[in-house]
Amino acid sequence: MDAPIDLDMSHVRLGDRPLIVCDVDDVVLHFFAPFLSFIEAEGHEFLPRSFRLTGNIVSKASGIALEENEVHRLIEAFFQAQEQWQTPLDRVIDTLADFSRDADIAFLTAMPPQFSAQRRRLLDRLGLTYPLLASLQPKGPILRALHGARSLPVAFVDDMAHNLHSVRDHVESCLLINLKPDSVVHRMAPAASADIVQTSDWSEAASLIQAHIAR
Ligand SMILES: [Mg+2]
Repeated sequence: MDAPIDLDMSHVRLGDRPLIVCDVDDVVLHFFAPFLSFIEAEGHEFLPRSFRLTGNIVSKASGIALEENEVHRLIEAFFQAQEQWQTPLDRVIDTLADFSRDADIAFLTAMPPQFSAQRRRLLDRLGLTYPLLASLQPKGPILRALHGARSLPVAFVDDMAHNLHSVRDHVESCLLINLKPDSVVHRMAPAASADIVQTSDWSEAASLIQAHIAR
């Protein structure tokens, strides 16, 4: 049984048209690259030894790895200051603007919800005014609650395998795209299953989404 969804989705109003749901960090806005610059400015560095932050972020002065609570504090400080750090991926703004004429678009971000106001301001400033859902709960049940039993095409774009697998397991016939920057962190990330298309390029993702929603 999935846990009940504790998330207000009433501001996401879907029309009688296809739905495109995008993760935000490292799909719409760069995350790891500016996060690594941010921790550098705080006197730390990330050692690319494995796909986890705790244990691999070390003090530049002492070489000692930060404790888990210190890593969480850094992530929260980054999200607090995201408007100064995060920038859009290439072509994402124009691509989503084009799709928004024929499809509903929503952002589903696994960011602690207390930073939603900062994220909303940043997305709005970039013209990415689509509704935002911020939740640390699994994405599949959220997307199922949003899309329901509609027979309209639906697409989901995320950089992380576990989110794509969660949506695959909860939403039938959803186009899944594993879009991620070609970063040292993403190269160490768990792979998505072989039937999920991978790309680092929004124009390639756009062709796939277009073919899916035009059916
Ligand atoms: Mg992400």
